[in-house]
Amino acid sequence: MSSQHDHPRGAKSRRQFLKLASGIALIPLVNISSVSAEDKKLIPLMESDPQAQALKYVATQEKAQSMPGYKAGSKCDNCLHFVAGTNGCNIFPGRSVDPDGWCAVWAPKPS
Ligand code: SF4
Repeated sequence: MSSQHDHPRGAKSRRQFLKLASGIALIPLVNISSVSAEDKKLIPLMESDPQAQALKYVATQEKAQSMPGYKAGSKCDNCLHFVAGTNGCNIFPGRSVDPDGWCAVWAPKPS
């Protein structure tokens, strides 16, 4: 009488099971890491946000041109506080701004 332990197919099946089990064990880790990436996404800054209003943030150049203190050509994209790649802004942590936007604390990027 032979058991699964001393049969070559049993060893192969056990290896396949362990391989499959280790793959299953990794699935939750993959999902957790993708959730973490989601958490790091920036939330678009809305003009209606009280912090945006306090600093007169507007999302377009058309609106910016009518704002007191606006200088021609100034926009988030060429602002010292703009974070290229994520459209983030150091003045509004966790938020993204429109590259064509503007606010009252705009400062030129050093050239
Ligand atoms: S600080 Fe600069 S990048 Fe941030 S919202 Fe104001 S103008 Fe845009």
